[in-house]
Amino acid sequence: MTQQPELSVIVPCFNEEEAIGHTHARLSAVLQGMGLTYEIIYIDDGSRDRTASLLGDLQRKDQHVRVLRLSRNFGHQIAVTAGLDYAQGRAVILIDADLQDPPEVIPGMVAKWREGFQVVYGQRESRAGETRFKLWTAHAFYRFINTLSEVPIPVDTGDFRLMDRSVVEALGRMREKHRMLRAMTSWVGYRQTALPYERQERFAGRSKYPLRKMMLLALDGIVSFSVVPLRLVTMTGVAFSVLSVLGMIYALVVRLMTDNWVPGWAILFITILLVAGVQSIFLGVIGEYVGRIYSEAKDRPLFLVLEELGFEEEVDRERPPIRAAR
Ligand code: UDP
Ligand code: MG
Repeated sequence: MTQQPELSVIVPCFNEEEAIGHTHARLSAVLQGMGLTYEIIYIDDGSRDRTASLLGDLQRKDQHVRVLRLSRNFGHQIAVTAGLDYAQGRAVILIDADLQDPPEVIPGMVAKWREGFQVVYGQRESRAGETRFKLWTAHAFYRFINTLSEVPIPVDTGDFRLMDRSVVEALGRMREKHRMLRAMTSWVGYRQTALPYERQERFAGRSKYPLRKMMLLALDGIVSFSVVPLRLVTMTGVAFSVLSVLGMIYALVVRLMTDNWVPGWAILFITILLVAGVQSIFLGVIGEYVGRIYSEAKDRPLFLVLEELGFEEEVDRERPPIRAAR
């Protein structure tokens, strides 16, 4: 193996043709100025625009660049995971391709790492160019998840972060299919610290995180790190059972001891609706967990690789990736 770079920077890209050139220029400027050895790993997450060919061009011109093309769109969290599997650096940085995470923050992260921290996560001070709705939902989500989850997830952090080799190795052993990396990094522990920064506006293109994907990620965050929803289901079930026993006693008393047992269809009707509603919610919650067990049980690889550019052949990886046949 040739020299291990000090720093690996992982950049997931999904249809980022408008941003990629600028991102690479700005990122490279920062990294060159730091005077350390580095590699930049771009993950093409099944883009349907010119991203893949642009990345190929970058790789030909710049020997720091490595490109990993996934066989289809696997989603942001998996794309980053693929990058982590391939990264060789003694520290690894995750950064978005749209320049929302300013590369200029990286030297600060590396300084903290040199001080001895193993995880340095970017914490957003302000978020330019985000809708008020996104701000509000993100805020509410972090508060909510932290009341549920067993490991606290730092408020207002995304995936922009530096991780030491030891943390990357630890994450590499967590192969769950439903991933929320920022929660998983919290779970890992080690010495962690925050680095405040100003979140920028997206440089070009549109967000690839529509509301639907955001909600799915939020669900993963909650369900993967907490059994509280299941416990809630059980507790509410118990409460409802107690209530219905009381109701039965009441009904019997009225029916047997008094004369005024007018057919109370209204209350019955309401009760049935209520119970049916509550039950289907609960089935849904349980289904979420069962579905997760199912997808873990299938034990499929997390991602498939179409093409690797710029990686050294002799690099031995603990989990050899599955490559497309040539
Ligand atoms: N991304 C990806 N695969 C996807 C969706 C997004 O690799 O399926 C990448 C995207 O190119 C970007 C990063 O993940 O570099 C964050 O996505 P985006 O900026 O769209 O999310 P937002 O900042 O709006 O939350
Ligand atoms: Mg973005």
